[in-house]
Amino acid sequence: MLRVECIPVGRLLSNSYLLYDSRNGEGIIIDAGDDAERIIKLIEMHDVRVKGVYLTHGHFDHVMAVGELREKLGCGFYIHENDVTILSRVPLDAKYFLELDVDPPPKPDGWVFDGQIIRVGSHDVRVIHTPGHTPGSVCYLAGEAIFTGDTLFAGSIGRTDLPGGSLQDLLNSISTKILSLPDHYAVYPGHGPSSTIGAERRLNPFLRWIEG
Ligand SMILES: [Zn+2]
Ligand SMILES: [Zn+2]
Repeated sequence: MLRVECIPVGRLLSNSYLLYDSRNGEGIIIDAGDDAERIIKLIEMHDVRVKGVYLTHGHFDHVMAVGELREKLGCGFYIHENDVTILSRVPLDAKYFLELDVDPPPKPDGWVFDGQIIRVGSHDVRVIHTPGHTPGSVCYLAGEAIFTGDTLFAGSIGRTDLPGGSLQDLLNSISTKILSLPDHYAVYPGHGPSSTIGAERRLNPFLRWIEG
C-alpha cells in the first residue's frame, strides 16, 4: 500500500513528502526545501529506503535540503530540465527572499519528463508536466493522489509573476492535466493543507477563470 507522510519545512513552510510502499519499504521524497535532519528522521521513523529525491520545480524553498539528503541517503535527485535556469538561481533567490546564504544545489542526477513512470515498490508514480508556475513544474500522480507542488493549492493557485512564470500556461495545465482527474483524488500541494480534486473544482476561486 502507498503511504504519504508530510512535513512542512523551512520558513516558507514548503511541504516535503515521503511517499512509500509500506509492504517493501521503498520510497521517494517529493521536494526537500529545508530541514534535512527532520526529513531524515521521518524516513528513519518509517524505515524507508529512499530511491530518489524528486522535485516539483526548482524554486529554492523546495530545493535547499537536496544536497544534504542526496549525500546522506546516497540517492540521486531529479527535476524537469526546463527548470535548470531556476535551479541555478537558488543562492540568489534564497538571499533575495529570505536573506539566507546557501550553497548552489548539486547537479541533478537525471531529468523527469512528462509521462515518465517512477516505480515505488510495487506502484507506479507518473510524472505530469504542468508548466505555468515555472516552465519545468511537474506533478506526481500516485494511485489516487496527486502532488501538485506550487501549481495548485487548497483554495489557491501558484504565483506566475516570478521569472519563467505564465498564468496562461498555469491555467491550461490545471484545466487539462489536473482537473481531468476524478473528484475523489487527493491533492497534496507544495504549501498548506491537502485537498481533493472535487473540492478544488467546486471551491477554488481561481479556477473560475477556467471556462467550462
Ligand atoms: Zn515555487
Ligand atoms: Zn514554494
